[in-house]
Order: sequence, then structure tokens, then C-alpha cells
Amino acid sequence: MARKRKKLFACGHKGYGQICHRCEDERKAKESKTVEKEQKKLEKQLWKETFEGDPIDLTGLMPNLVMKARNIIHSLDSGQDYRDFGGKRLNYDRQVISIPLNRDYRMICHDVDGKPTPQSVVSHEQYNRTKPGA
Ligand SMILES: [Zn+2]
Repeated sequence: MARKRKKLFACGHKGYGQICHRCEDERKAKESKTVEKEQKKLEKQLWKETFEGDPIDLTGLMPNLVMKARNIIHSLDSGQDYRDFGGKRLNYDRQVISIPLNRDYRMICHDVDGKPTPQSVVSHEQYNRTKPGA
């Protein structure tokens, strides 16, 4: 068997075989990076599209809050009590129900024929500003 000899490829690299493996590896790495980028872009797009199904605007919230808000929206819709989520009716307006999402955000619902209907998600600051006399 003849000893393999390194050959010089057009790219300037030396190696064995028909193609330069160094360049081939680089090309593959670049390709998988492009695929990864495309996937991320697609995921972002799909994530954006999920907001179209929300009855209220949840864009701009952290993903975990979005999921939590959606869970509450669906649970309320299927008849679960808002108090199960720590929700309270406001003292100055019993038609308004406030459900905490976390320390900074809460979901505001209006009582529509006895059913809490989500209106918006507000930050703590926004919420305080909506209080009369605040
Ligand atoms: Zn090469």
C-alpha cells in the first residue's frame, strides 16, 4: 500500500483526500450556525403569533408572565374562581378584580355578568396611578 501523501488544496491548506477537511468543517459549522439562526428567528416569529390569540395585550411581558397570564385567562374562562389566583375585588369599584401575576404585575378584570373578564395587565406603578385620588 502506498503511503498517503498530503496534498495542497486550492484554499492553501494541506491535507489528505479529495476535499479540504478544514474548509469543509468550517463550512459545516457556518451552515449549522445559519440553521440555528433561522430556527431562532422562526421561534421568535411563532412566539409573536401566539399573542394574536390573547384576548388582551400581553406583548412586552416576560415569557413566564405571559404563560401565567394565559393560564389564568383560560382558567377564568372555564369557570375557575379568581380568588384561586389571589384575585381581589377593588374596594372602590367592586366590578373591578385585580389578580396578581407577580410582585410587579397584575391582571385587571371586569366583572361582566358575574364573570371576571380580563381587561389588561398593568405594572404596579400603572395600577397605583389608576386608583382614584392617587
Ligand atoms: Zn482549506
